Amino acid sequence: MQTLDTQALVLRVVDFGESDRIAHLLTPATSRITVIAKGARRSKRRFPGTLDLLHLLAVRIERRRPTSMARLDQARLLDAGTALRTHPARFALACYLVELVGRLAPEAAGGRDAQQLFAVVGGALRIAACRDPDLRLRALLELRVLAALGLRPELRRCVRCGRDVEIGATSGAVAFHVAEGGPLCPRCVHPADAVLPLQRGTLRALEQGLRLPFDRLDRLALGAQPTAEAHALLARFLRFHVGFELKSERFLDSFLAVERTRASA
Ligand SMILES: [Zn+2]
Repeated sequence: MQTLDTQALVLRVVDFGESDRIAHLLTPATSRITVIAKGARRSKRRFPGTLDLLHLLAVRIERRRPTSMARLDQARLLDAGTALRTHPARFALACYLVELVGRLAPEAAGGRDAQQLFAVVGGALRIAACRDPDLRLRALLELRVLAALGLRPELRRCVRCGRDVEIGATSGAVAFHVAEGGPLCPRCVHPADAVLPLQRGTLRALEQGLRLPFDRLDRLALGAQPTAEAHALLARFLRFHVGFELKSERFLDSFLAVERTRASA
């Protein structure tokens, strides 16, 4: 890359030295890219009002040498995410999704995967901006983002033999093996396996959630138990396969806990 003109979502911004800022951006051309914004800290006229979390920008990025950090040359604000910022719980969900992407998206990887990831994150943030979050919405959006990152749990096939766990199902429950990232069929599950019992309907609903357009996710029925199961599955899956807690998770949990208390009051 010499010069790249593209849209970019701001994932993270940190001050660097006395006068610069470093921004982590998500673009449809590069997936995640780290850029240095020279003079952004010292001068208010360089990149005014652009380098802020969740901002959607039109940027020009330059890289002079293959080994050097890319440099942000120009940035114009396209969308400040105002709808997210004025609503703390929606903002918390957006921060959580963006942190997930910032930690897991590959650095400087182009192609269709990068375009797809950018589109999915944009779609998820648009929904997050206009819905009050609950565990259901969080699970559905989280799963979509994980899938776009190439990290989704298997939801249909036994991870040991490849058999569809729906075939010959004798009960509604299925054993989900967190470490192996998917369900085990009755033939493959061993009494010593540490598994999370889930209803088949929960896996089916999550699979549907992956296929629906974002604006139709509301139509996907997910009751209280499947929602709790989906949340437990994704929380354990992330903990195991990602191996860290996201900083924004507690912030988000505090809102969702408030919502749950209100709902049961
Ligand atoms: Zn099996």
